[in-house]
Amino acid sequence: MQIRIENLNKIYKGGSYAIKNLNLEIPQGMFGLLGPNGAGKSTLMRILVTLMKPTSGKVYFNDYELSKHRREIRSMLGYLPQDFSFFSKLKTYEFLDYAARLSGMKNGAARRTAVEQMLEEVGLFEARDRNANKLSGGMKRRLGIAQALINNPKVIIVDEPTTGLDPEERIRFRNLLSTISDRDVIIILSTHIVGDISSTCHNMALLNQGKLAFTGAPEELVKEAEGNVWQILATEKEYLEINEKYPVISTIPIDGGWEVQVVAPEINGYQGKQIAPNLEHAYVHFMENKLNQWSNA
Ligand code: ADP
Repeated sequence: MQIRIENLNKIYKGGSYAIKNLNLEIPQGMFGLLGPNGAGKSTLMRILVTLMKPTSGKVYFNDYELSKHRREIRSMLGYLPQDFSFFSKLKTYEFLDYAARLSGMKNGAARRTAVEQMLEEVGLFEARDRNANKLSGGMKRRLGIAQALINNPKVIIVDEPTTGLDPEERIRFRNLLSTISDRDVIIILSTHIVGDISSTCHNMALLNQGKLAFTGAPEELVKEAEGNVWQILATEKEYLEINEKYPVISTIPIDGGWEVQVVAPEINGYQGKQIAPNLEHAYVHFMENKLNQWSNA
């Protein structure tokens, strides 16, 4: 499975580009789509799930082109929208069974087996008789992914998957997605949470102002930030100055002051050392430097 996006543009009423001349290849496995609010991620997701037509350009799912083969492409898709919610009266099992019926699974016995297997897989079998709307936030998300997967889709699109989840649920949800990605599928994760991508995706794209800023492996983006991440030991007074001057990634209180991580090419006179970047540092580095140059180009 492969998705190919060619010269894609989306202009909303009023004339501004939400997607501008986007060319992107999405290979099999987990693919992270990262970008700040307003970058165009939701617009791209809506186009990919056939809810919205682009202004121009083409999208191919293998050899199927989106404007010509909407039905075929829809049958390959599973979608978990950000604001996924369900019919309040249904039990967890009934909800998934209903989703399976909607997706065309008519044979009762086969459907029951599929629903039970899926409940096991997402860790909701024990909760199968609970009302779906009484599940915890993390469990609801897992039920959401179960309904997106029940029809064996080839492409699964998940919008802001971990927003609002507590850390434990977030990790569990990420692990679940990683297990699924071992199959011959594409999972696209659209997020502004860097940790969702660094812990799961082998490939990613960075969008900003509707344009592609980077695509490749997260490690490649991280490499670009080498030499630009510093750990500074700062007094209280220095900390306040540093906060004004540099993008601060993290602070830890220590005896007599703070240990501060900043992204900058140099730290003029402060006491500190360079450290190895991670994806979060790299994202900030990219947004601070490259994107400024690139959006002025
Ligand atoms: P993201 O999901 O990355 O936050 P969006 O795709 O929602 O980005 O938005 C991209 C741009 O398109 C933003 O500038 C946003 O204001 C604009 N936009 C989104 N939806 C609409 C709409 N329905 N009408 C007009 N402009 C829109």
